[in-house]
Amino acid sequence: MPFPSAIRPQNRTIPIQSGLKETPPELRFISELGRSLLFMVHPKKVACRVADAIQAGVGAELCAFVAELENIGVVSCAFDQKGEVVSEFLDRGRFEKWLDLLPPQVGHTDEEKKNFLLLGNLHELEYISPLHINGEIKGAIIVGFSSGSDFSEGKGSLIDAATQMAAMSVNLSAHYEAAINNSVTQAREEHRRFTEAVLDALPVSLYVVDRDYRIVTWNRHREIGLQGIPRDSAIGRNVFEVLARYPEGRVRQEFERAFKTGRIERIEQQTVAEDGSTKHWVVSKVPMRSPETGEVTHVITVGEDVTMRVEAIHAVSRAEKLAAVGRLAAGVVHEINNPLATIAACAEALEQRTSEGAFEGCDGLDDLNEYLGLIKSEAFRCKSITTGLLDFSRIRTGDRHPLDIGEILRSSANLISHQKRGENIKIELDIAENTPLVNADGGQVQQAVIALATNAIDAMPDGGSLRFRTYPQHNSVAIEIEDTGVGIPTEDMSKIFEPFFTTKEVGKGTGLGLAVCYGIITDHSGRLSVRSNVGKGTTFTILLPVND
Ligand code: ADP
Ligand code: MG
Repeated sequence: MPFPSAIRPQNRTIPIQSGLKETPPELRFISELGRSLLFMVHPKKVACRVADAIQAGVGAELCAFVAELENIGVVSCAFDQKGEVVSEFLDRGRFEKWLDLLPPQVGHTDEEKKNFLLLGNLHELEYISPLHINGEIKGAIIVGFSSGSDFSEGKGSLIDAATQMAAMSVNLSAHYEAAINNSVTQAREEHRRFTEAVLDALPVSLYVVDRDYRIVTWNRHREIGLQGIPRDSAIGRNVFEVLARYPEGRVRQEFERAFKTGRIERIEQQTVAEDGSTKHWVVSKVPMRSPETGEVTHVITVGEDVTMRVEAIHAVSRAEKLAAVGRLAAGVVHEINNPLATIAACAEALEQRTSEGAFEGCDGLDDLNEYLGLIKSEAFRCKSITTGLLDFSRIRTGDRHPLDIGEILRSSANLISHQKRGENIKIELDIAENTPLVNADGGQVQQAVIALATNAIDAMPDGGSLRFRTYPQHNSVAIEIEDTGVGIPTEDMSKIFEPFFTTKEVGKGTGLGLAVCYGIITDHSGRLSVRSNVGKGTTFTILLPVND
């Protein structure tokens, strides 16, 4: 029987070398198959090439290639008589059994037909050639012939020869593919790690959720700090579960809006730590679109700590307000001082005249003297009030001397303890011995400390404890005034330093204490900060630079 070529004419990719044309057809078949397999790098392609060639080469009803390859899995392919690929061709159960038992290779009796590995009943005889890969049988080439007479021993040997070649080829290509896969995986892994490092290096906290609200990215800054959650307990989980401490409705709305509108949204937030310190955040929801469809597939949440910026803005506006109040007070004081001086001078002049006997013998001379005294003393009292107002509205840089803060705290505590209010209040002093001297205006610093201590006492109507503390901190001296009072609600935190902000009843509070205190401390290039827990207490901290 003439042997068809191993390569179907329409598939011919490698020309048959002219020298081989005279050689026996079996040899030509093997040689052509070998040449065509030479450059095949995909196991699946090898499988198809071999099954196709054998089917055509031996005129089989069906020829199948089945192998189970390490790292790759099952590779299979089958061709029918028309040279077309067949999809369902293998009886898996029987094939597994065959792999276990390896019965004889040819079968055609009725009994043997029950164990045919190929599906369908178009074939009368089945020939199985095992695929030896790395010394083990990993699969087979199974050839079905429509009648027993179509098969010959010669064809069997040819199939075996082709099978051996196929085994070698498929094994090589499997290794090649595994290596490629490996390096692709490695490159991907490197890329992933690089992206992760970039996200971790950003000075913002960042996480990404997909359409199912699963967290797919969680950077290092999102892990640290108060609101931090470790990456391992976030990735792959539902964002509402992970952020359980936030109100779910609100978080869900924010995400839904971002998915729906596709617009970036910025939300400002405030958080208060356990120790009472406030942080300000700007949280942005950034929708991410698929480059192919343009649909929003993910939402990136970026949280930025803007505490420093917000505090700086507050500080500037506070300073501006103070300055405005200062100018107003200075103007008023100036206008009042002149008439006051005139009143006082007139009273004095009249006193002078009386003492010289100008009104001798007049009725009510005693009253006159008494009233003049009153006018004079009241005018002077007014003058001292206006000067005082001028003093603290336009905080002048007074004389600075090396100052022992411990001393200031001792005398302040002493002053405070002699006040009538605050009877149930325990006063504590905690003065670190190695506290250095600071160059400051003693009177002003004391004024600031007393303003803070007075507020502390006001915050403890039912008693409590008030602690004055000082200790060195870096290049500064820290002064803490700590109380166990009512605390300051978060919404008031940004307002308390504003001039005239008070929560006290009319006549009790002026709302100037903290504003003045703030003015004094900044004038000394120092800092004034506050931590507070409602119901637990408040601590004001002054930092004064040492070498100022
Ligand atoms: P005033 O004492 O006249 O009200 P301040 O400027 O001294 O004005 O203080 C402003 C406000 O800040 C107070 O009315 C009070 O609400 C709040 N405050 C200041 N210190 C404390 C404190 N230690 N504890 C609680 N609240 C305080
Ligand atoms: Mg006050």
